[in-house]
Amino acid sequence: MPRDELLNLALRRQLFFPTAEIYSSAPAGFWDFGPIGVRIRNKIVELWRKELVEKEGLLEISGSVILPKAVFEASGHLKSFNDPIVQCTKCNSLHRADQLIEQATGKIVPEAKPVNELNELIKKHAIKCPKCKGSLGKVRLFNMMMAVSIGATGNQPCFLRPETCQNIFLDFDRLFRSGRLNLPLGIAQAGKSFRNEIAPKQSLLRERELGQMEIEFFFNPAKINDFPAFETVKEEKLNLMRLGKKTTPITASEAVQKKIVSGKIIAYWLARVQQLYEKYGISRQKMRFRELEKEERAFYAKETWDFEVQTDLGWIELIACNYRTDFDLKGHALGSKKNLAVKEDGEKFIPHVFELSAGIDRTFYVALDSAFNKEKRGSDERIYLKLPVAIAPFLVAVFPLVSKDGLLEKASEVFDFLEEFKFECIFDSKGSIGKRYARVDEVGVPFAVTIDYDTKKDYTVTLRERDSMKQVRLKIEELPEMLWMLSIGRMQFNQLK
Ligand SMILES: [Zn+2]
Repeated sequence: MPRDELLNLALRRQLFFPTAEIYSSAPAGFWDFGPIGVRIRNKIVELWRKELVEKEGLLEISGSVILPKAVFEASGHLKSFNDPIVQCTKCNSLHRADQLIEQATGKIVPEAKPVNELNELIKKHAIKCPKCKGSLGKVRLFNMMMAVSIGATGNQPCFLRPETCQNIFLDFDRLFRSGRLNLPLGIAQAGKSFRNEIAPKQSLLRERELGQMEIEFFFNPAKINDFPAFETVKEEKLNLMRLGKKTTPITASEAVQKKIVSGKIIAYWLARVQQLYEKYGISRQKMRFRELEKEERAFYAKETWDFEVQTDLGWIELIACNYRTDFDLKGHALGSKKNLAVKEDGEKFIPHVFELSAGIDRTFYVALDSAFNKEKRGSDERIYLKLPVAIAPFLVAVFPLVSKDGLLEKASEVFDFLEEFKFECIFDSKGSIGKRYARVDEVGVPFAVTIDYDTKKDYTVTLRERDSMKQVRLKIEELPEMLWMLSIGRMQFNQLK
């Protein structure tokens, strides 16, 4: 769906909007989530937690967003977490050098391309300032970390974390040893990260404060193929786009046998990612794992598959699936002078890590994008979000047909009755019934119950489905079972009589 329509909907229905928007001095790249948006966003994280944390027996932590400088010296971020930037010599505007080159050549510029090569490309393609056509200065590296000073003297230099995974590496030793755990061991965290992006753009797709849900899976590299859970996904078709090749679906088994991935642990997690994103409402045909070449990969990664989803804006990266090896624990062992090796079968080694680093806000954006539907109905246009029940802001809306003659009270009783069954309900009595349906359709509430004059006579209500707009008449006492059957997919709406 076109980006403008999604943004319109987001602003109109308070899904998300710019932070501090009443101030013209507010910097770009920060977004607030409104009452409906925050519910959808939380459910996205909840589904991730249910599927990839709880079901997989991982440990979830919640770490501090502020970390000492030493952490980022050891992690390599102070040296390497850079964007190449270039300034216009005429209007002084700043640009990402790699993005300007990509726009001019239509080719992807790897993150790690040396500065002198970027300068040559700018010269070769005669790239000018996109704002004023002035000539560009020399490319330089800009570190994206956001510094904060702690304490009154400010002599404890710290940084806002640029990724949520560092807490996990720092906490690994305590969790592993005090929990007397064994490998493999997965640790997860959902939270905020901060990156001083030069050019935040496309709303939630490139933010300066971003939500991440990350999993770091620690394992013995000698046992990357010793992983029984793999059996449950071995027939799963993975949409792998290998270097220089077209996307070909191949089974997880085949990917391991042909050594397209480093081992079963990696194929397993890629399969689980596809399964999760299907539950977010994304179709398999619109998913792929794009293999990154060495120059394109983050500085810590040995093997990277970017999980991408196709939208009207093109393919959007949602998850970096990085085989980080022992890079991080080794770095922190050196930096902290603590022994972070583990012992298994009499052998000492630093565990390897496979990471799934997912963007929450990007996932939110793409889930909305793929749920967006627009229909012509006569002279009218209807917009509705076909969100799966699992990430819908509410399961059911409860409406009195009108707010008089005792219908408001009756509707309130029905609302309380459904809440007793733990259904997530929203109540609305403002405006015409048609407008109320339109409002909940636009934010993706799957069902609506309307209380009318007949309700008072025979205890029946109207149950309406968002997608088909079909309605059936049911007894109030039948509602809980029907809603439950519909919400878990045991029954389709058109089976109701
Ligand atoms: Zn300029």
